[in-house]
Amino acid sequence: MEIQFVSLDDDVARFILDGASPAFANAVRRAMISEVPTLAIDDVRIYDNTSALFDEMLAHRLGLIPIITDLDTYSRKEACACGGAGCPGCSVTYTLSVEGPKTVQSSDLIPQDPKAVPVNDNIPIVKLTKGQKLVLEARAELNTGKEHAKWQPTNVCGYKNYPVITISEACDACGNCIEECPRDILAVKGKKIEVVEGKISDCSMCRLCERACLATGIGDVPAITVTAVPDRYIFAVESDGSLPVKEILRRALQHIKRQSDELEKQTREISGDDKR
Ligand code: SF4
Ligand code: SF4
Ligand SMILES: [Zn+2]
Repeated sequence: MEIQFVSLDDDVARFILDGASPAFANAVRRAMISEVPTLAIDDVRIYDNTSALFDEMLAHRLGLIPIITDLDTYSRKEACACGGAGCPGCSVTYTLSVEGPKTVQSSDLIPQDPKAVPVNDNIPIVKLTKGQKLVLEARAELNTGKEHAKWQPTNVCGYKNYPVITISEACDACGNCIEECPRDILAVKGKKIEVVEGKISDCSMCRLCERACLATGIGDVPAITVTAVPDRYIFAVESDGSLPVKEILRRALQHIKRQSDELEKQTREISGDDKR
């Protein structure tokens, strides 16, 4: 199995997973979405709220603000030495005190840990008119997307099969498929058509090119066919900014490995192999 990055920065990555079963590719996708922990606000104490929004609505909005997460500093509440009561090892507290007229933004949240700030400064929370006030204390903790979507580290996380486009000798370079392709994958070269260099991974496998070819009256079999490599996938992942994409992938793979090690251990125990 191999992973090859086509593009990579902290926020967005595109990579090819080669030599994996569909089940494994899907397990990687699911682990990135729901098994990698991030910080999100989960507990809010509102001391004063004369804004137009209910307390519950404000708490919901605060929970959805992505927070830069250092997974080496924080641990899950259940695994923390405080026993889940909440301490600087498993939670971050924020204070907010704003009086209108002003739009309250994520930058108005003052964190106890200066590293655990919201990903963006200008996420609007509520608009206050003159004399309206909002005073609160919030606590963020680590959890995963399996518990609630606010802990998902990804905005986008999906994959598709790697496409293969085959053009047969029956092609007369009429160009119908080129006009029909919505992603400009095809071009004429001499008396044949071919895939534009570097564009194959952009193919959505919509097969409109096959339909356009059949519409020329070529017969029952189009001169162009689109199929997929069975064990090769193109992944597109976008982080919400709480963690770099590479870290999300690394943690997701570690989770899968831990689970498979545990499964192996348990099956050994059941079959009695560990006693041999
Ligand atoms: S399958 Fe769709 S995107 Fe791919 S080459 Fe054909 S028309 Fe273009
Ligand atoms: S529509 Fe068919 S015959 Fe025409 S260029 Fe495309 S593949 Fe060739
Ligand atoms: Zn703790």
